[in-house]
Amino acid sequence: MIGIFGGTFDPVHSGHLRPVWEIKRALNLSEVRLIPCAIPPHRGEPLATGEQRLAMLQAAVKDVPGFIVDKRELQRGGPSYMVDTLQSLRDELGRQPMCLILGQDAFNGIDRWHQWQRLMDLAHIVVMQRPGAVLPSMGPVSDLLAACRTDSVAELSAASAGRVYLQSVTQLEISATQVRRLLQAGGVDAVRFLVPDVVQTYIEQHKLYGKREH
Ligand code: ATP
Repeated sequence: MIGIFGGTFDPVHSGHLRPVWEIKRALNLSEVRLIPCAIPPHRGEPLATGEQRLAMLQAAVKDVPGFIVDKRELQRGGPSYMVDTLQSLRDELGRQPMCLILGQDAFNGIDRWHQWQRLMDLAHIVVMQRPGAVLPSMGPVSDLLAACRTDSVAELSAASAGRVYLQSVTQLEISATQVRRLLQAGGVDAVRFLVPDVVQTYIEQHKLYGKREH
């Protein structure tokens, strides 16, 4: 099985990397594709350029076995719909099981994604669950769980797509929004250990996310 982890990565932080590493180990994924988006469909423009977000991600996972940065959304340009990304991976990988890895917040809103029902034809969904986090008890996401949830890794690897699996991960209350705010308020030293050292260095060298001139 391979994992697919998309994000804005503006910038990549430890709250992305550690939970996804735990998923890779728990599900014995042969690799995880980390895919920075070009234009995120559901939010404002990123502050850093695509090139900068890509460079930070590449530096962060350079020595991590099985973590592969995949540039297809940046190369495709335009709004980065996950359904298009999964379809292009499916065209390349044939019937190999693919697991789309999502944080629980993203999963809870998946019914707002472009052609969201097609996602399940193309991949499994693996949710990085937060203890105490609330799964919806009604509505389309609740129906999806009722129809497709499995607690068996063997069942995931037996099919190429179509199941939802919930995995507990170490809770790291870090967001890129928080990292950007800390950088603006306190400078680059304020985010030490929230982002990998190489990302901190890149942010410093390229003067990213600093105080704005008004
Ligand atoms: P922002 O604060 O700018 O919205 P973010 O930190 O949420 O960004 P994204 O790149 O938008 O990061 O997120 C990509 C994916 O990573 C999403 O599936 C999201 O749910 C997940 N994710 C982000 N932060 C965490 C975290 N601390 N723990 C678990 N999952 C996370």
